[in-house]
Amino acid sequence: MDNTASQSMVVFENVTKIYDGGVTALDDVSFTVEKGEFVFIIGPSGAGKSTITKLMIHEETPDEGYVRVGDFDIGKMHRRNIAALRRSMGMVFQDFRLLPNKTVYENVAFAMEIVGASNKHIRRRVSTVLSQTGLSEKWKFYPDQLSGGEQQRVGIARALVNNPKFIVADEPTGNLDGDTAEGIMELLDEINKCGTTIIMVTHSQQIVDRMKRRVIAIENGKLMKDEQGGYSYESL
Ligand code: ADP
Repeated sequence: MDNTASQSMVVFENVTKIYDGGVTALDDVSFTVEKGEFVFIIGPSGAGKSTITKLMIHEETPDEGYVRVGDFDIGKMHRRNIAALRRSMGMVFQDFRLLPNKTVYENVAFAMEIVGASNKHIRRRVSTVLSQTGLSEKWKFYPDQLSGGEQQRVGIARALVNNPKFIVADEPTGNLDGDTAEGIMELLDEINKCGTTIIMVTHSQQIVDRMKRRVIAIENGKLMKDEQGGYSYESL
């Protein structure tokens, strides 16, 4: 592997995924995400977007082609390395997926506890990411005491806390109103500018148009466009 190739965070090479029942969810899809990029994956419902994220976390494996995430070859890796693969990235979900019985602080700290971080390191690091995500005042609150936007900030803080190489965000603004979504996008933009690669699945034309970042468009399992600089569905 040469130096340029080893910089790539994610490589999809001629990837085809056919589910049981015969649905071709991805058909000969190729793209590469480099370190530091912010990439949107867009496309109508059923296009194959979730299949891309499922391949990245080894929830599925490719039927044909090659998927590499960091140093992990998804098609060939051993199951015992799946936890390490998932720890190497931060995941942000549309429905937040916070633990309801834990406070903001505890939700974020928990992600560090499960990787065996020391208490001192946890205290310092959690306090840093809560401040970075605008949650310092809310550390004692439980998820049901927070707005949707605040809950998603906790989701982002949790994704960030173990210093992942990249973040995969699956419709992170899907449950939020426009202004709140804008705040979340500003936060993701800042995080990206600090060096974290971000791959985000979204339906929102507005967000894609406003952010002017790279857009990968998937339709019927095929990669239709891969362009820098954001555009809406109308131009597809
Ligand atoms: P998107 O995320 O863009 O909505 P998906 O990747 O979830 O699309 O789905 C792509 C296609 O694969 C759809 O036709 C969907 O019905 C099908 N599909 C997704 N998951 C499965 C599965 N586990 N078994 C069978 N078909 C599936």
